[in-house]
Amino acid sequence: MRYIEKHPEEPEAFSRWKKQNKKADWRDFSTSAEHRELREQLLAEQVGMCCYCEVMLTVDDSHIEHLKPKSRYPQERFAYGNLLASCNRKKSCGHKKGTWYRPEMVSPLTEGCEERFTYTLDGRMIPSDKEDKLASETIEQLGLNCATLKDRRKSIIKALDNGGNGPEPDYLQTVVAGILNRKSNWPFGFPTVVLFIAAMYDIAIP
Ligand SMILES: [Zn+2]
Repeated sequence: MRYIEKHPEEPEAFSRWKKQNKKADWRDFSTSAEHRELREQLLAEQVGMCCYCEVMLTVDDSHIEHLKPKSRYPQERFAYGNLLASCNRKKSCGHKKGTWYRPEMVSPLTEGCEERFTYTLDGRMIPSDKEDKLASETIEQLGLNCATLKDRRKSIIKALDNGGNGPEPDYLQTVVAGILNRKSNWPFGFPTVVLFIAAMYDIAIP
């Protein structure tokens, strides 16, 4: 999970739509052209990744996720600060989360959320501090250890690890620099997994 710095301003088209449709509900909005535009902006803000699992997404395979579920926080259903772009996987992320939400949960809007999690070499996501119950609960409720995600992380770890020979330092350094500048030249998603491998092998961060 990676921290998402929200743009201070919501897209103009979204504001306009809200002004013109004061009594509308989310369903009305979800079929509008502005909904697609909003998804595009959310994805741009998330460097193209799912807000929870870090899989790379396109606007067509994403949906708008309410961090605070709209059924429980109807007053925040159109609040830009509550909106994220999630993948459409059923066993994880927005769809798996459903109406679960706790204000103390570790969310991608929690500054420093990256530090609350780490990985095992077989691709499991675990809390950095094993006593961190909120991090464990977040992993569980968001399905972040579903088989697909675990396998995808494992193959990235294996690829970077060069089949046990350790990563190629110059290459990994370039990838890490791109990730940290949020201008990733790394097309496979899961940037925090890459950072985990870099830290494991003491790759100097430029
Ligand atoms: Zn996801």
